[in-house]
Amino acid sequence: MTEWHQVEGEAAVDQLGSNRHRGLSTAEVQARQTKHGPNELTETGGRSPWRILWEQLSGAMVIMLFVAAAVSWFLAEYTDAIAIMAIIVLNAALGFAQDYRAERAMAALKKLAVPNVRVRRDGQLHETPSRQLVPGDIILIEVGNFIPADCRLLESVNLKIDEAALTGESHPVEKHTPPLDTDELPIADRHNMAYMGTVVTYGHGEAIVTEIGMDTQLGHIARSLQSVEAEPTPLQRRLAQLGRTLALFALGIVAIVFVFGVIRGEDPKLMLLTALSLAVAVVPEGLPAIATVALALGARRMFRRQALIRKLPAVETLGSVTVICSDKTGTLTENRMTVTTLQIAGQRFDNEALEEIVDEPLALTLLLAGGAICNDAQLDSDSPRETPHAVGDPTEVALVVVAAKQGLTKPELDALLPRVGEVPFDSERKRMTTVHRLNFSDDEAPADVSGEVLRRVRQPLAELNAADGVAFLKGATDAVLDCCQYVWEDSGPRTLDDDRLEQIRTANDELAAGGMRVLAVAFRPVDDIQASPFDESVESEMIFVGLLGMLDPPRAEVEEAVARCRTAGIRPVMITGDHPLTAMHIARSLGIADDREAMTGRELTDMGVTDLEPVVGDVSVYARVAPKDKLHIVRALQNQGHIVAMTGDGVNDAPALKQSHIGVAMGKIGTDVSKEAAQMVLLDDNFATIVNAVEEGRIVYDNIRKFVKYTMTSNAGEVAVMLLGPLFGMPLPLLPLQILWINLVTDGLPGLALAVEPAERGTMNRPPHPPREHIFDRRMAVDIVWIGLLMGVVSLAMGYFQWQTDAESTRQWRTLVFTVLTLSQMGNALAIRTSTDSLFRVGLLSNKAMLGSVLLTFGLQMMVVYLPPLQDVFHTAPLSLWELGVCLLLSTVVFWAVELQKLWLRRYHKPHETQRNR
Ligand code: ADP
Ligand code: MG
Repeated sequence: MTEWHQVEGEAAVDQLGSNRHRGLSTAEVQARQTKHGPNELTETGGRSPWRILWEQLSGAMVIMLFVAAAVSWFLAEYTDAIAIMAIIVLNAALGFAQDYRAERAMAALKKLAVPNVRVRRDGQLHETPSRQLVPGDIILIEVGNFIPADCRLLESVNLKIDEAALTGESHPVEKHTPPLDTDELPIADRHNMAYMGTVVTYGHGEAIVTEIGMDTQLGHIARSLQSVEAEPTPLQRRLAQLGRTLALFALGIVAIVFVFGVIRGEDPKLMLLTALSLAVAVVPEGLPAIATVALALGARRMFRRQALIRKLPAVETLGSVTVICSDKTGTLTENRMTVTTLQIAGQRFDNEALEEIVDEPLALTLLLAGGAICNDAQLDSDSPRETPHAVGDPTEVALVVVAAKQGLTKPELDALLPRVGEVPFDSERKRMTTVHRLNFSDDEAPADVSGEVLRRVRQPLAELNAADGVAFLKGATDAVLDCCQYVWEDSGPRTLDDDRLEQIRTANDELAAGGMRVLAVAFRPVDDIQASPFDESVESEMIFVGLLGMLDPPRAEVEEAVARCRTAGIRPVMITGDHPLTAMHIARSLGIADDREAMTGRELTDMGVTDLEPVVGDVSVYARVAPKDKLHIVRALQNQGHIVAMTGDGVNDAPALKQSHIGVAMGKIGTDVSKEAAQMVLLDDNFATIVNAVEEGRIVYDNIRKFVKYTMTSNAGEVAVMLLGPLFGMPLPLLPLQILWINLVTDGLPGLALAVEPAERGTMNRPPHPPREHIFDRRMAVDIVWIGLLMGVVSLAMGYFQWQTDAESTRQWRTLVFTVLTLSQMGNALAIRTSTDSLFRVGLLSNKAMLGSVLLTFGLQMMVVYLPPLQDVFHTAPLSLWELGVCLLLSTVVFWAVELQKLWLRRYHKPHETQRNR
């Protein structure tokens, strides 16, 4: 069989029943989608529901419970055995619900991260998710794209593709379109094919999809690959570690309770069951799981606020970010450029002045035409002449638009001067060049070109006797001046001497100081374009034409977001390829810049990372930087102990994104490569979204902390009851099933409700928590001990008096202890919701889930106390109204105590100190 690489591109298009210029029809696409299915690799990762269930049932705690159930059964305590089994089921169901939820949230995140593809269908260009591609689709690819399926190339403009993912070859491969006449050609040598999962690193082109999904080369590999397990986040790891330590500690205490009990003459079998139940209750097994839920829920909230989390650990790292390095263009500003000023030798025009021009200087025509023709944006031909509209890179759009307003429309210019070669723009070079053939003779314009446009464009070219071709260059002023030897004045080129250079630089700085992005245009005649190599060598002996100044308004939300950063102890830093003066102007208007000058890319290169370190903490604006400089900035900041979030959109930004703690890619303008390298994608490209995500990250961290504190204090309370009871001379204060019950109802729902606790007032008014800080610190330990003791004492006190008055009423006084302990934990959960504010300030209703679970738990407790069948199971006795009242009152003691502590913290501590011990 002939393979795709052996046939002509046209033949491939025919064989696939497509059309080179129109693409497939919508109907055909639908038919093919039904036939071939979605273009995706079958997901082998992720945990199946069965797997999650199995994990729930195989944990150490469940095994202990099984042992307890078995022991009960052999002791012929059948009710107990069945009750314990019921608790196992409930526990597993709860754990399953938590884990399944987390898993689903993660799977949903993965789906969202799929890139879009530009595809030609029904004669029009569409953006579609890559999973909707079918064989026969005509797609457009460019720098930074992932190849979405296997394709035969139809057009290649300097196309280079990095195929390392597939072939292991680390150098990008040049791609061409002619057929290759060998059948047994290895994948790596099929230079007219592009394969799914590889990356365009240079140029652009068009291709027809030949295979999709699992039929692609990548699909063949994926079939044989094993799924990769998701790595636990640092927080999860630390919590697991903490869980293990606490488990040992808890087991020690349980052993003491057991030994004590037996010595005091309790039934050893009962004591064994009690010890087992207590062990189950106090070993904090759920910590990592609850952390996952909290992180996944956080990721979901971030998504609602336009931040897509690609890697779960990012949620947690975001909370400790200390520096946000942000691109200027598009993130801090709107990326809606408008040309407002044009500068040619000796003359400056602002937008309004343009309209009144009668005798247009040649240089002005060249400036407008050059800017529009050395340009990849497309003029929307249906748009009105007064308000032209174009699509493409915003900088280029601005140039096409301003030229069109002056009657120089891009389609006409393109017809007059078709492009035959180019040296593309990239952020390192900061310039681009296109080479054009002169497609007109004396007075004959090609069809569709007005005589007026022909006359205006031909005149300056005629002055130069350009016969064959012409090259246009546009880019940053310094980058363009580097290629120029002449400057166009009045009617022809002059040598670019120092005076003229100085004039251009001054003009450039004046525009930049007003916050404008400045682009320079230059050109030169090219003889014998057939023989010319279209590489950087054409960028010499250019004739400088003039400058275009464009404004890009700052985004409305950014100023406030910057201010929020400041109160939150986070330093915003601007990084841009623009001129230092432009950068400083915008930085000042947004409150990012202080008095310091901007640091430039050149200074950075001269310094190296070690010299940079001492100053990196003070510089707020970096200008004229290339993507590689970003890497230096990140490294230097990291060496200084900062937690760095860094934005980026280009292919070259990927290393810096990977290196930073939080790589942030742009959802709209970002390349696939940058998104792949990033931990977080901004769906709206907005700086303010990063700050929102940081806030969510802090909330998640706080909530996990609250959860840890809540479970640990509750467990401490249970332990205190069991330890102190015998010390006061009382018999066993709680029965095994009662302990298990408390553990089930208190840890479960209120714990989950803490994970959805909304932001506290001060969340963004305190410095980031140090990343190395352990979630379990000394203050938390102290809290756990005193709250636990208090809870234990209060619960026991109630039972103690009853026991004193009537030692025979065992069921009665145990029920009292049992009830006060359960309800105290509810009070504790409510009080722990806020770390400094009083609960009454945030209101009971601000976390409805918590209110609901507290009420539900109360209801369940009442059922256990008052419903006769449950009384039999849990060995409870009904309480009188008076007793219930006292129970309720006593169980608020813990709540008031914690509220008092918060009051004291509010009075005597600065806000940030109250968050942790210092
Ligand atoms: P930023 O990171 O701020 O977007 P870039 O690296 O994209 O900066 O651009 C740096 C400089 O390159 C700009 O100041 C501008 O002078 C020039 N430039 C930007 N876009 C283009 C383009 N499409 N063609 C030519 N020059 C450009
Ligand atoms: Mg840019």
